[in-house]
Amino acid sequence: MISKKEIFYADLKDQDKLHEVLDDNGWKWPQNWKYKYPCIANIQTPFITDKPDQAIWVDNNGNEKNFSTKTVWKDVRRSYGKVNWYNIVWHPHCIPKHTFLLWIAARNKLCTQDRMCKWYPNKVFACSLCNKVPDSHELLFFKCDDVLFM
Ligand SMILES: [Zn+2]
Repeated sequence: MISKKEIFYADLKDQDKLHEVLDDNGWKWPQNWKYKYPCIANIQTPFITDKPDQAIWVDNNGNEKNFSTKTVWKDVRRSYGKVNWYNIVWHPHCIPKHTFLLWIAARNKLCTQDRMCKWYPNKVFACSLCNKVPDSHELLFFKCDDVLFM
């Protein structure tokens, strides 16, 4: 919202880091910016220490936690109960790629042509094995006559 020209005239740079736009008196930006850009008037001056930066995650309950993908994943996903067959798919000796595909297949969420028809309504799909109908979970695993199991 602040033009590069104004940033330049304020003796700042648009790539400045936080410590470069702060001094002992607070923000280094010109006083008139508070009136020109009212939204910056209420920005609190952060307390800067010599400690290294640390990523913090505020969870769904408002608690600050150390950032980790596990914590974020728990907060952003919808959580469902465990299915009683999960250990058939997920086990210590599983191959992650195979397990992931099996899990997706078990949830009937494979990217099959019957599902892709919704995204590409004008495209003609056909099973690449029998070339008769669009492939689907049901067709690929149970009904396609041309599937060869070795
Ligand atoms: Zn087929």
